[in-house]
Amino acid sequence: MDWSQVFATRMGRMKASEIRELLKLLDQPDIISFAGGIPDPALFPADAFARAFADAMRPGEAGVALQYSVSEGYKPLREWIAARMAGLGVPCGVDNILITSGSQQALDYLGKLMLSPGDTALVTSPTYLGALGAFNAYEPRYARLDPMRNAEPAALAAEAADAGSAIKFAYLSADFANPTGETLSRAGREALLDRAAALDIAVIEDAAYQELRYDGTPVPPILALDVARSGGIENTRTIYCGSFSKTLAPGLRVGWVCAAREVIGRLVLMKQAADLHSATLNQIATNHVARAEFDAHVARIKAVYAGRRDRMLAALSREMPAGVEFTRPEGGMFVWLTLDPAIDAAELLARAVRDERVAFVPGGAFFADGSGRNTLRLSFSCASDAQIDEGIARLGRLLRQS
Ligand code: PMP
Repeated sequence: MDWSQVFATRMGRMKASEIRELLKLLDQPDIISFAGGIPDPALFPADAFARAFADAMRPGEAGVALQYSVSEGYKPLREWIAARMAGLGVPCGVDNILITSGSQQALDYLGKLMLSPGDTALVTSPTYLGALGAFNAYEPRYARLDPMRNAEPAALAAEAADAGSAIKFAYLSADFANPTGETLSRAGREALLDRAAALDIAVIEDAAYQELRYDGTPVPPILALDVARSGGIENTRTIYCGSFSKTLAPGLRVGWVCAAREVIGRLVLMKQAADLHSATLNQIATNHVARAEFDAHVARIKAVYAGRRDRMLAALSREMPAGVEFTRPEGGMFVWLTLDPAIDAAELLARAVRDERVAFVPGGAFFADGSGRNTLRLSFSCASDAQIDEGIARLGRLLRQS
């Protein structure tokens, strides 16, 4: 069978994630890897989940937990999230919340909701690779979103129109972004909302890391700034994608969207058509654990991650040769390095693994336009102090030879 002739054109845009392929190669005990951007499994609240799952399996409860449930999501969890969003400056009701299978599913649905083939999505450069993966299925074109120094809306619109394309949304991760670790300032968020209003497009705010702030002053979510200027959530253009993956545990696949009811209503139709609802049991367990100990748990993991970030920044200051620049993230899991323009980080990785047994993610993968070859991402989330010291020393040695 010639399968290629039955596959849809959208498959041409769907590639294996370079990072996932890379991570498979790095699973060797003597490699110090700063490549994977995942939470430390030692920090999962496993006891709390054990109790929550046991409670959910008690007679009387199990019939609900193991049954089909509504597409919008488990109502007590949506209520907890709505209260949490209100605390972030987004007064809203349960009807503004949809539970998704991780925020990744929200990105897929938002692509499906807004992108017809050839439409334009504005994305930062670099951006979260998984967002490009989700959007690619809907065959968009990308244009560069630079929240601080953007092309004027008129120029962006003219460029899209020349390409016969309509701009639909701007996507960004505003807090401790994957991959750069950087946070968009309040002024940058306001400027972004101004531009989005001028273009009359949506803003997708990916808040996957928002809870993981270690220091500095919290910046209100873009959605909160949007609510403040538009007089209520029903008039906003921002779609907030939240997740329990980095705070509680990613394996449960529980995330949410917070947005105007008009958007949520459409996403509920998509959820019905795609998978009916997210796993009932996981939503119930997440609700138990969130209500019992979300803040205490997040405070615990933040203390650990903050220590690792400090350790990595200290090691980088000590070990990096002149000319290497790195970000100083106030939260999240990543530090972003910019090397001499002559260095190709993908080639560097091959040598790093072969000669120094240290690994990272070459930054080129995170750029929709093929640039950024001299950049790389380091994750400190799963590394011990000793691994950080030794791994960054190895990287420094390699870069001094380059
Ligand atoms: N957004 C960003 C920026 C991420 O880094 C990730 C996971 N690495 C996600 C979304 C998806 O997370 P999840 O589906 O587990 O909520």
